[in-house]
Amino acid sequence: MPSAKSTKSPAFQFYAPKFWRNVNKTDTCWLWTAGKDKDGYGMFWAGRSVRAHRFSFLISFGWLLDSGVVMHTCDTPACVRPDHLVLGTHGDNVRDKILKGRLKVPHGAEHWSRRFSEEQIKAIRDRWKSGESQASMARQYGVGVATINRAVRQLCWEERNV
Ligand SMILES: [Zn+2]
Repeated sequence: MPSAKSTKSPAFQFYAPKFWRNVNKTDTCWLWTAGKDKDGYGMFWAGRSVRAHRFSFLISFGWLLDSGVVMHTCDTPACVRPDHLVLGTHGDNVRDKILKGRLKVPHGAEHWSRRFSEEQIKAIRDRWKSGESQASMARQYGVGVATINRAVRQLCWEERNV
């Protein structure tokens, strides 16, 4: 019996093995090798036609905001590597929600390892609050944007729980 708390249909996971067969994992980007649209974004059929990088984000993190824009930190439209993908913010709306603790931490992110000292996290958080992009900090620290993103979010949560 599935637990009563199980809310999301795992239907999209059915397509995951088929999805990864179309990916060429290079040392940097993971390139989509099947069909692309006119803008160079990979296209994938998962019951309906979806952009491959969005599908990658969905199956890797298990969630996607309905209105969320999935952007590349590597500026490579055909790339589907999960840690090269980050949610767009729609301006300050999402940022504001995160700061106020209303946006849930994605379940799949909880096991990601910490890579920063407390001092570094504080610096990252402060720079993010003052408007610096997560992508530029990720480049500076040599980590994926998802890691920066998590550092920012997790610190916000911990602060709220003190
Ligand atoms: Zn990439």
